[in-house]
Amino acid sequence: MKIGVLGAGQLGRMLALSAYPLGHQMRFLALSEEDPSSLLGKTYINSKADVIKLFSDDSDVVTYESENTDVSIVRDVSKKSNVFPSERSLHLTQHRGREKELLCELNIPCAPYQIVNSVSELQNAIKSIGLPAILKTTRDGYDGKGQFHIKFESQIDEAWGHMSGNESILEGFVKFERELSLIAVRGLDGSLKYYPLVENTHHEGILRLTVAPAQNISKSLQKKAEGYMHSLINEIDHVGVLTIELFDSKDELIVNEIAPRVHNSGHWTIEGAQTSQFENHIRAITNSPLGETSIKHQFNAMINIIGEYGATQKVLETENAHLHLYDKEERQDRKLGHITITSNSFDALNKSIDSLKEYLP
Ligand code: AMP
Repeated sequence: MKIGVLGAGQLGRMLALSAYPLGHQMRFLALSEEDPSSLLGKTYINSKADVIKLFSDDSDVVTYESENTDVSIVRDVSKKSNVFPSERSLHLTQHRGREKELLCELNIPCAPYQIVNSVSELQNAIKSIGLPAILKTTRDGYDGKGQFHIKFESQIDEAWGHMSGNESILEGFVKFERELSLIAVRGLDGSLKYYPLVENTHHEGILRLTVAPAQNISKSLQKKAEGYMHSLINEIDHVGVLTIELFDSKDELIVNEIAPRVHNSGHWTIEGAQTSQFENHIRAITNSPLGETSIKHQFNAMINIIGEYGATQKVLETENAHLHLYDKEERQDRKLGHITITSNSFDALNKSIDSLKEYLP
């Protein structure tokens, strides 16, 4: 099939790398020729109506790689091609308030929240939610951008100033022990597969390390997370990969965010799982049977390469380490690539992580 991707970043690139062995062709709607996937398929540059039409006419099925994709583009493309995940998944996940509303309807735990549009609404929200709390823009946030951690009432004006007048959401601060995520894939026929829960370590809002599977996860905790995913993914009739980010707070799971796409915390699946998240997304949107999601190695880790390429030679020399670079220019806080480490011993995994510690903050 001819698969179109709205966007041409590293996720599109890794989708392409898993689509080619299955005999598919790729098209991208990119911002520029420099985008990480623009050399991996036929690339349409610009999002003008005539370009979108050419791109849609040239794709049998279209997907997107970011929840910040313009809904109106998805709507236009849907007139010509099938788009998976659907406009509904996108509309829901690009607004933190809509996400939380749906979670509440489905009785899935999330932080207490209130939408705020002014400093006085923020003051009122703090009266009911309390401090500490986190103020976030309802849209367009990623890697912790557009967020302010409010600890004291004296910070209210500064916090609101940080939102640049944008609609925002105040969330109660969750005292969590660790951050987890669950990735699932759902086919057009409703078939559903889950990857194991993984543990994520962030620094200044950016994911730095994923350990997969997360350690000390009881069967009941995995089942609880899968139960939340099951309600959510079926409710929105999602087709493709869906990710939920969770806080683990003394065995209570609280959902933080939903992403309608392959996720950075699932990059380890390229070497670590029987079928990667990328291949399974491609399988789902092309109406093919979903692949096994079980792990190939008992212990896996993923380290992000952020800002600078660093000692990539050393990565190549490290046993059981795999290097993935995205062909991007070095820039502060930019995701340039990742390293996957696979092992059948937890000690050996930690040793390899330790030998690459210069990549960790
Ligand atoms: P987000 O963009 O929502 O994923 O937030 C980025 C990071 O901020 C998360 O990975 C958490 O470490 C932290 N964070 C976000 N929301 C909360 C919350 N309600 N309580 C505690 N920490 C949070």
